[in-house]
Amino acid sequence: MKDPIKLSCLKCPSFCCKMAGYVQVTPTDIRRLARHLGLTVAQFEERHILKVTRKGEKLIKPGFETCQFLGENRRCTVYEARPKDCRGYLCWEAEDRTVYDNARFIQHTVARQVRDDRAE
Ligand code: SF4
Ligand code: SF4
Repeated sequence: MKDPIKLSCLKCPSFCCKMAGYVQVTPTDIRRLARHLGLTVAQFEERHILKVTRKGEKLIKPGFETCQFLGENRRCTVYEARPKDCRGYLCWEAEDRTVYDNARFIQHTVARQVRDDRAE
């Protein structure tokens, strides 16, 4: 398989926030998100932690489902305070290529099709 090319997150409808695996939050993430939302840590955990794994990991996004913080405009509603997991994610570096393949299809194949249609 060819090496993946980098994509533009600004041109993407945030496939990672819908299709990628779970998002874990650290205690620092939780404090930052709680402050951003005007909540106490306890309130944040009660409202937004969806699952605690057997290892004690706290998840705000279950695997392969849309994140609770993805807005209707397909942008992250807590972007400035987003967890470390999200800051470090780039679909073209992920082992599972599903998210990348969808994002690349939209950015390259569909964009090229639109350009071709306009040129006709
Ligand atoms: S799916 Fe890929 S290109 Fe789209 S926002 Fe996520 S990391 Fe960026
Ligand atoms: S917190 Fe924001 S960046 Fe992270 S998965 Fe949810 S919507 Fe996406």
